Amino acid sequence: MSRKRFDENMKIDREYVLRLLEEAKGTTEEDIDRILEKAKNKKGLEHSEIAALLEIENKEQLKKLFEVSGQIKKDVYGNRVVLFAPLYISDYCVNNCVYCGYKCKNKFVRRKLTMDEIRKEVEILEQMGHKRLALEAGEDPLNCPIEYVLEAIDTIYDTYNKNGVIRRINVNIAATTVENYKKLQEAQIGTYILFQETYDEEIYKKMHPNCIKGNYDYHTTAFDRAMEGGIDDVGAGVLFGLADPKFEVLSLMLHNQHLEKKFGVGFHTISVPRLRPAEGVTLESFPNLVDDDMFKKIVAIIRIAVPYTGMILSTREDADMRKELLEYGISQVSAGSCTGVGGYQESLKGENIAQFKMADERTPLQVINDLIDDNYIPSYCTACYRTGRTGEKFMNIAKSEKIHYMCKPNALTTLMEYAVDYGDEEFLKKAEKFVREQASTIDREDIVNFTLGNIDKLKKGERDLYI
Ligand code: SF4
Ligand code: SF4
Repeated sequence: MSRKRFDENMKIDREYVLRLLEEAKGTTEEDIDRILEKAKNKKGLEHSEIAALLEIENKEQLKKLFEVSGQIKKDVYGNRVVLFAPLYISDYCVNNCVYCGYKCKNKFVRRKLTMDEIRKEVEILEQMGHKRLALEAGEDPLNCPIEYVLEAIDTIYDTYNKNGVIRRINVNIAATTVENYKKLQEAQIGTYILFQETYDEEIYKKMHPNCIKGNYDYHTTAFDRAMEGGIDDVGAGVLFGLADPKFEVLSLMLHNQHLEKKFGVGFHTISVPRLRPAEGVTLESFPNLVDDDMFKKIVAIIRIAVPYTGMILSTREDADMRKELLEYGISQVSAGSCTGVGGYQESLKGENIAQFKMADERTPLQVINDLIDDNYIPSYCTACYRTGRTGEKFMNIAKSEKIHYMCKPNALTTLMEYAVDYGDEEFLKKAEKFVREQASTIDREDIVNFTLGNIDKLKKGERDLYI
């Protein structure tokens, strides 16, 4: 493991990954048992061990894999699920990503939101109860320059709807310069998210023909520049369905390790989007589609390999799949999403082109109700980033597992805040009962008292309470 797996341009060592995959073909059942036993320590795994787990096909061993990943999920994240919503501000794009509805080859009337329109979108999202957004924009230096993105961030943070306020904006914009990352950091973004799409360089080039994004090296080094620009929290992901998923999982781990070695902290989150149909995109032409069984295995293995990295699932997956993956891997889900520019405003809906087709169209209230019914705590917590618990500092707290004493009371408090502000009488009753029951399971009296005390404070009008 001492050998550097990235060269000067931070390229994935392809030969090394392929060799791992080849060697893993000889994995025995005893090997799998030993690796799963080791995984229970929550210290992560060697690359060769991750490669071995990717070979699991046997039903009994899959069951064991899900049990171990489920236990790790429970130990690290308890029964909390962080909620967020995407906000698309511009669908101008100069790129030609084969898998995306926004590719420049697709001819439709493109738009970017004015600041007034952004305000309206945010008010609607706040009315749904959201506190955490993922800002999304296509790449277009002329129509969507960094100045526009920065102004949008300011506008979002400055928009209030009664008690509604956005407390954390994660930003998903194209790979850019250290200077621009510094500007994003100064604008107080949460996580900078960038999907690698695929680590397979050859496929990457085919998927991004004749466009800026086709520069593989520039794309794979984006997080290095983001961290040099002062952004502590970066969120990665690949678009499963483009290349061999086993190659992608191992490459994600190499990338993560590279950041850990160079900057002291790896990915804050990993997203696991799966290819979906979109405007001008049908799935038949993609030979590496990932079926449900493989997808579940991938989520479980990533959870085991990087226990303290949040895992995000979007509305690309349907409600059943989201429910299942929450059991053994996923810690954050989007809710009530629109995946088009201006999608939250009724008046603009007709003009809206979605980036991809969604599979889960439940409202946030339905999602929250379903989560509570399944004994999960829906959380709108944004405390860490606002108390400076980011990057390496965050990871150290997370690894000490003291984070439980922050996440759980914060999750319960934000759920109660949601119920007071946006629930009807019936929901308020249901949520309060649930919050009280859940608070009583915390094994520290001071934290129980803090949480129960917040119920009364919220009812009396106090807001934004957290540890
Ligand atoms: Fe543009 Fe991003 Fe879609 Fe590519 S994936 S076409 S960069 S919006
Ligand atoms: Fe996330 Fe920190 Fe809140 Fe826990 S306390 S849910 S880690 S922001």
